[in-house]
Formats: sequence, C-alpha cells, structure tokens
Amino acid sequence: MLMTKLKSKKEILSLTSGSFFVINCHGCKEVGFPEEEAKALEKELMAAGRLAGVITTDYVCNPAELTLRLRSCLPIIAEADAVLVLSCGVGVQTVAEYLEDCKVFAACDTIELPGFQGVTPLEYDCGQCGECFLNLTGGICPITACSKSLVNGPCGGTKNGKCEVCPDMECGWERIIQRLKAQGRLDVLRCPTQMHDFNTDEATKAAKESE
Ligand code: SF4
Ligand code: SF4
Repeated sequence: MLMTKLKSKKEILSLTSGSFFVINCHGCKEVGFPEEEAKALEKELMAAGRLAGVITTDYVCNPAELTLRLRSCLPIIAEADAVLVLSCGVGVQTVAEYLEDCKVFAACDTIELPGFQGVTPLEYDCGQCGECFLNLTGGICPITACSKSLVNGPCGGTKNGKCEVCPDMECGWERIIQRLKAQGRLDVLRCPTQMHDFNTDEATKAAKESE
C-alpha cells in the first residue's frame, strides 16, 4: 500500500501564476488518494479562474491508456499554463514523459506504507520517498533515475550520457537537465533542494507516538 498526500496549498499554487489542467488518478486500490483535499483544491482553483480543465481517470501510469484518455483533452491542455497531476510518483512521471513539452507538476508526495505494493508492470519507478522532487526535475525522479539518488545535480561521473555506476543506464541527471533545458526551466536548479528530515517531522513523531 502507498499513500498520496497533497502537498501544501501554498506550494501547489506557487507552481504557476496561471491556470492548471488537473489530472486525478483514481487508479489502483493500493494507492490512497486524498479525495476531500483534492476536491477543495479544485474548487479553489475554479473560484480563482485558474482551472483550465479536469480529467479524473485511472491508471495514468499506463502509457497506452493515458494516451487514449488524454487525446480529447490535448487542445485544452495546450491552453493551460501547467498540468497538475494528483497521483503517485509513477503516474506523474508517465504524464511528464507523454506531455514532455508541458510543465507537468506533482500535486502529491508519495509515502510508503507496509503491505501489498501492486504488480502492474511499469515503465517508471517511484521510491516512495515521502517528499516528491518531480517539480524541480522536469518530472524525472532523481531518486530512481539516478544510481546514487542525488537530488542536487549530477555526480560528475557521467560518460557519453551514461551512468558511471550502471553503464547500461542513461544518466538520470543528464535526462533531467535536457528536459528542463528544452522547457526553458534550467533556473529551477539554482535553488538547492532541501531534504526533509523525517526524524524531526512533527507528523512522523506524532504517528510514532501513537503506535
Ligand atoms: S521524488 Fe521520486 S521517489 Fe520521491 S515521491 Fe517523487 S517519484 Fe517517488
Ligand atoms: S552518473 Fe548520473 S545517474 Fe549515475 S550516479 Fe552520477 S548523476 Fe547519478
């Protein structure tokens, strides 16, 4: 089981000053979806005139399914300033790859919970790190696409675009940099990423104390 937890409203609203096209994934039973918070966010965006459109679908992590479902929405998506995906990290990465010219943002953090994790064969991986970095990396996960799970840029060991640890694998950070460059968003890398310390996190402490 994994849980998707909505990021703070402040963080989401700061992703663009313009409009969002929202993709809700009600995909699998193994992923908890923040239903009420998602509805409230949608209402707020609509009231502010910042909701370009919404689609609620399932299995956005399946590229063939996603292509089919989004086909009729592409003209509206093209008018929106950004696409906001409410799904686990795998879903966001799949959408970001499909809409690689658009700014695709994760609205949620993906948190691992004990139990069954699902068996769907997937193109992308999410390490369920608890604080999704995809909004700073063009929708490519630095935790799983980089052998060292670096979140503040490449290690410097890449050769011809390949990873120094796994030479068969493309360097995740080369991919991130190329994606951000193509979108004219390299400036997001100027601000060092702050790692969340779950040891001192109030919510984590409260959860441990209640065990
Ligand atoms: S940064 Fe990667 S591992 Fe962390 S939640 Fe996002 S997709 Fe998952
Ligand atoms: S070469 Fe690239 S993918 Fe490999 S560890 Fe270094 S930054 Fe990460």
